[in-house]
Amino acid sequence: MSARFRLSAAAAIGLLSPAAHAARPAPIEVAMTIDDAPMHAPFPPGESIASVNRALIAALARGGVREVTLFVNGIGTERSSEGRAALEAWRRAGVRFGNHTWTHGNIDEVGVAAFEADIAKGEPLLAELGGTGDEHWLRFPYLAEGKDAATRGAVRGWLADRRYRIAAVSLSFGDWQWTGPLARCAAQGNRAALAELDRRYLAAAADEIARARRQDRLSGHPFPRVLLMHDSAMTARMMPRLLALYRRLGVRWIGLARAERDPAYASDVDPRRAPAERHWLDRPADLPPRDDGGALNAICPAPAAAG
Ligand SMILES: [Zn+2]
Repeated sequence: MSARFRLSAAAAIGLLSPAAHAARPAPIEVAMTIDDAPMHAPFPPGESIASVNRALIAALARGGVREVTLFVNGIGTERSSEGRAALEAWRRAGVRFGNHTWTHGNIDEVGVAAFEADIAKGEPLLAELGGTGDEHWLRFPYLAEGKDAATRGAVRGWLADRRYRIAAVSLSFGDWQWTGPLARCAAQGNRAALAELDRRYLAAAADEIARARRQDRLSGHPFPRVLLMHDSAMTARMMPRLLALYRRLGVRWIGLARAERDPAYASDVDPRRAPAERHWLDRPADLPPRDDGGALNAICPAPAAAG
């Protein structure tokens, strides 16, 4: 046995020692939710609704994420014939569907009546896709629940009457911010910039798990997280690496309904209650805010904006 071999064997044994094992992070339970199905555009050259959704479905299956809730904007089935086919592929893969309104309107811009009509317009499509009861989860577009108490109260009463539950978001690293930069960098064939996008994406995801753990330690009350992702080419590109990262960080996948059984989500599960005063997406003071949006917008600027 060479000295070199003995060294690497010792190093390997060290990796398996009880001390190293104890350093493995404690599990953190997370529910996977994906918004803006069947498409969060734009797409890079060569990608399509079909290819993006196919890649996402395959990556989630390979990564062992057994329960996924997909929030649908029905308008995506009007814009392309691939939209409906993509949703059918998700159905065959066993996804649960939720309502994200038909057009992705913002309640504070369209008003309560139009917003409610936009939710109702999505119901027949979700029923056709195979209602499980889960389609009565609502994810508010832009996470806007109403700018004042009157708006919030009105829509929550309507949701309660129709047996909706609100799909909270308690974990997000702003994956949607990569959608445009990926399309630009890919169109320009800028490989260095693409690598930088990938690096930043994974760093942001890891940072938000650290923030969740920090919040749990500060509060003394760990609770399951509901992760917000988007049906985009960037998230399809990164999902295998993202799931591997999350595995290393101790993420254990659970379903949305199980996550929201935690008392932290009581006012989401029952919209008759007043909205929670919560700050799940705020950062503790000792974790500085990320600014991926500003940095990402500067990567691969569009030619018109670069001049
Ligand atoms: Zn959305």
